[in-house]
Order: sequence, then C-alpha cells, then structure tokens
Amino acid sequence: IYILGIESSCDDTAASVIHNGKILSNVVANQKIHEEFGGVVPELASRAHQQNIVPVVHQALKKANITKEELHAIAFTRGPGLMGSLLVGTSFAKSLAYGLNIPLIDVNHMQGHILAHFIDEEGFEKPPFPFLAMTISGGHTQIVKVVSYFNMEVIGETIDDAVGEAFDKSGKILGLGYPAGPEIDRRAKLGNPKAFQFTKPKVDGLNFSFSGLKTAILYFIQREVKANPNFIEDHLNDICASIQYTIIGILIDKLKLASKQTGINHIAIGGGVSANSGIRQALKDGEQKFGWTTYVPKFEFTTDNAAMIAIVGYLKYLENDFAEQDVMASARLKI
Ligand code: ATP
Ligand code: FE
Repeated sequence: IYILGIESSCDDTAASVIHNGKILSNVVANQKIHEEFGGVVPELASRAHQQNIVPVVHQALKKANITKEELHAIAFTRGPGLMGSLLVGTSFAKSLAYGLNIPLIDVNHMQGHILAHFIDEEGFEKPPFPFLAMTISGGHTQIVKVVSYFNMEVIGETIDDAVGEAFDKSGKILGLGYPAGPEIDRRAKLGNPKAFQFTKPKVDGLNFSFSGLKTAILYFIQREVKANPNFIEDHLNDICASIQYTIIGILIDKLKLASKQTGINHIAIGGGVSANSGIRQALKDGEQKFGWTTYVPKFEFTTDNAAMIAIVGYLKYLENDFAEQDVMASARLKI
C-alpha cells in the first residue's frame, strides 16, 4: 500500500511517501522567510506553502520512485495549526485524491507526532500499548495516555505557553535567531547547567506552565545586564545550559508523576523539542533511575514532517477510516 502524506500546518511544507510501514521519501521545505520577523507570519506562511506544495510533492514521488497513479490514498494534516497554512494542504490533498479517484485520509497533526513511533525504522522499537507520550513542540505540551492507535487521552497539558515557545522566547531575550531551540541546545552542551537557578513553576497535577519561567528569565537578564552590559555575551553558554536544565527538570518531574499515577512505565516523546539532546539524555537516564522503557523518535521525525502524517494515513487506511470530500481544515482540532 502506497500512501502520500502532506503536512502544511505551520511553516514547513512537507510530503512523504510510505510503502506499508516503511518511509520511501520524506521531503521538507523550510520557510526561511520568517527568520527576520522572529516568528511565523501566518500570511507569508500560507503564500509560501502555495509556492512549495507542488514541487515538494513532485520530489517526494520522485524520491520514492513511484508515479502518482500508483498511490492508494492521500493523507493530509487537517489540524491543529494555522488556518491559512492548513487550507493549502487540505485543498491540495482533496483535489489530488479527487483527480486520482482514491481515498482521502484526514490526520491530526498531534497524533502524527505521537504515532511517528510506528514508522518501520531499523534500530527503533515501537512502544507497546498502553504507553505515555509526551508531545513537546512549538504549539503544544501534553502528556497523552495512548491506549491504542486511535484511542488516546490527554491527561496533562500546558495552561499557557508551550515548551517550544519557552525555548524560543528565552532565545529572543538572549538575542538568538528564530527558532532558538536548536541554538540553545547547541550552546547548552558547552555550558554549566547549574550556573544560574530559575525557580520552577508550581502547577498541580499533570499540567504545565511556562509563561512564568519566561518572565523570570527576562527579569534575571535585565537585572544582570544593568550590572554588566556584556553579561549575555560573557555567559551565553551557561545561561543556555541553565535554561535548558530547568525546562528538562519540569518535563521529567511531570513524567514521573504521570508514570506513578497511571502505573505505565513505557514512555515516548514526540514533537520538535524531542530533538533536544538534553531531554533525550534525561529520558534515557530515566530507564536506570525510574525503571522506564523509553522511546525517542529518529531525529528527522521530531520536528514537523510528512512521514508522521503518512504513517497515520497508513494506519487509518488499514481501518478503512477515510474522509469525505467536504472535510474542513480545523485550526483547533483536538486529539
Ligand atoms: P505543533 O506541533 O504544536 O503544532 P510546531 O509544529 O510549530 O507546533 P514543531 O515543528 O513540532 O512545532 O517544533 C518546533 C519547536 O521545536 C520550536 O519551538 C523549536 O525551537 C523546537 N526545537 C527544535 N529543535 C530543538 C532542540 N534541539 N532543542 C529545543 N527545542 C527545539
Ligand atoms: Fe508539530
């Protein structure tokens, strides 16, 4: 079974062809245009998707070495995401499926981040049900109890900013480019994680909060820069290491609680921030420390990609779970 997956929820235009569980191609066109604005500009994003989508899909088919007539279904991201961006992928997928007279499959982007673990990939084990998935990305921070492919329940989530925003907004305060997550990660490796202390937010239960941390970092930097105008340059790696250490501590604390409350020791992460080397290491350490079995996705399946949409498409195809032509993009689609 050949499925084409299309992802256009935010600022990456992506297409992927999957043959049964195996990825044959995984093409992503990043939109550089947002860097100078320090964040994604929705109108520019949808325009760039319109320009990219045809060449990206062509390339995905070419790399997979198949023609569009050989496809069995088209899977696309229905939501959540930016409406203008979602509309480009949704309309394109609908037209292509209609033109080829093959089924259309709608995919929830956040389920994609979770079910990316079910891509057949050498050296990567698939989590057994039930497992806990922590989705940490630019727009979400959730702990999800995954009972089966399409039976999942959000048991904790952020009440304000997402963890990716915590990285990106901290980076902005430090004058780093957008998105700052990868740069903070790189610098954190060179710094002392205990150089500076930031208090962790106190949120009961399995929910998260990151907006207070961002403010704490802002005030801290403002105070230090007053005393030493070169504070940021002098201590950038230590600051990055300390911020990352604090964020990882928050995430691991909540995972520990979730594991205790549910009695589930199989723990997976997904979403852009799961590319972070510190969180990957902390999760691995959890195997020894807390008796977890952990599942960390292959790097290329962490940030937005269409392979994760294609695998969900394949799993839905097996269940004959198809969308109608009148399906609508949904910016706030829930799991
Ligand atoms: P969502 O999936 O919630 O709709 P999104 O699709 O915009 O949001 P992703 O592409 O999944 O988000 O993730 C992007 C985020 O991941 C950005 O905030 C970016 O800074 C962060 N990120 C990427 N790599 C790293 C890294 N190595 N360390 C920390 N953060 C990272
Ligand atoms: Fe995402």
